[in-house]
Amino acid sequence: MEDKFSTSQKQDFIINLSEIIPYTIEFSKDAKEIILTKGVITGEISLDSLALELAQRFDIAYEDIFFTLNDNNDFLINIVSENFIDISIAESTILEMIANELPYTLKNADTHKVFTYITENLFGIPLIGSMYFGVIDRGTNLLQVRSLTGCPLNCPFCSVDEGPVTKTKHRDFIIDSDYLVNTYDYVVKEKKLKKAEAHLDSQGEPMAYPYIVDLVQGLANNPNTAIISAQTNGWYLTEKLVDDLESAGLSRINLSINSMELNKAKRLSGRGDYSLQKILDMAEYIANSKISLLLAPLWISGINDTDIEEIIKFSKGINKKEKRFPPLGIQNYLIHQQGRNMKGVTSKTFKTFNEQLREFERKYDVSNLVLKQSMFESYKSNMLPNPLKTGEIISGRVILPGRLNDEIFTVAKNRIIHVTGAEGLSVGTKIKARIVRNRHNIFFAKKV
Ligand code: SF4
Repeated sequence: MEDKFSTSQKQDFIINLSEIIPYTIEFSKDAKEIILTKGVITGEISLDSLALELAQRFDIAYEDIFFTLNDNNDFLINIVSENFIDISIAESTILEMIANELPYTLKNADTHKVFTYITENLFGIPLIGSMYFGVIDRGTNLLQVRSLTGCPLNCPFCSVDEGPVTKTKHRDFIIDSDYLVNTYDYVVKEKKLKKAEAHLDSQGEPMAYPYIVDLVQGLANNPNTAIISAQTNGWYLTEKLVDDLESAGLSRINLSINSMELNKAKRLSGRGDYSLQKILDMAEYIANSKISLLLAPLWISGINDTDIEEIIKFSKGINKKEKRFPPLGIQNYLIHQQGRNMKGVTSKTFKTFNEQLREFERKYDVSNLVLKQSMFESYKSNMLPNPLKTGEIISGRVILPGRLNDEIFTVAKNRIIHVTGAEGLSVGTKIKARIVRNRHNIFFAKKV
């Protein structure tokens, strides 16, 4: 006989979480959390916390909340209740809880390091002063726009020691796209630039930024933007991404490719699963789009000499259309004190390097291997005012831990400052530091 108080009076109230948040959602291995992923961003939310939040909000039993994936892999939250549940209130409860908790669990899926999401509220000033993120002005119309740190590759020559094997970087950053665009607009205005180039580069891989299309669109909306260019190692390129970037207004892609031989390409990328064919296919796809393709191999003497010639031939073969920029930007290998260097490899002098490029120009009947600023529509312009002096003592508070073990960020005079010698200081702690390096509005200080 049925109990008159049985659950038959209860109804199902279903929320499709996949439809209301822009993440792919799956259960963790032990099914105690959900894993939220968007590009390289990944984070977790505890299902216990989520159920408790809903149970308290609607005064229902914790056991009456169920989590499932449907056949489309949509993540469903099913609340079984005798009381009416207002779905829109339930959705805002869940969104608020996720917005509060997710930032504490974010990781960079490429490097497995903590990923800190930086919004305008954090620093409260334009994103100027850091070499890791924000906008960098080196006194020309080209502004470097850095949206994230971290890289999927482990190139043995990486000048900034990036990638999963890094020994020096312990944290990654990702920047809110509106914050970057607002800073870019501010710098363009301050410098009174009429033909600015927004150049997406990074201490890492710019195309790993999950909001790159929105970012390009935002930069293109500035009426004084003349060029938008991006560097990439090609790992994240797809035909769809190239199409979307083309529509958003990207003018040029500088694609690094260092060998035409699979095993060597794998060795030089530091990844056994590197697909050379994919990079070659993407190069050809870009060459056939409205975006200019610039192949940018690093010439590592004694390692990829013949590859450089093969890359010149490949570039000639695919770059049939006349484009706005040179199709090749061969780079000279340099030794870096703070990055990774290849054993036994030395740098060429720029004189020798340029002479060899001239020889290739004759041999392969190509022009513009020796690059000049004017080929990129670059010109000198006044620099942003620099408000700090080397040797100056600044006082501030710790705003954020840095990427190095003993590094934090503070702000002074409307600029972001890296401070080292600050190991173990927590956010909010008062700090004094002396500026020890100060160039192009990038500031390094030591704690005093
Ligand atoms: S692709 Fe660039 S940032 Fe990434 S590891 Fe290689 S050199 Fe470093």
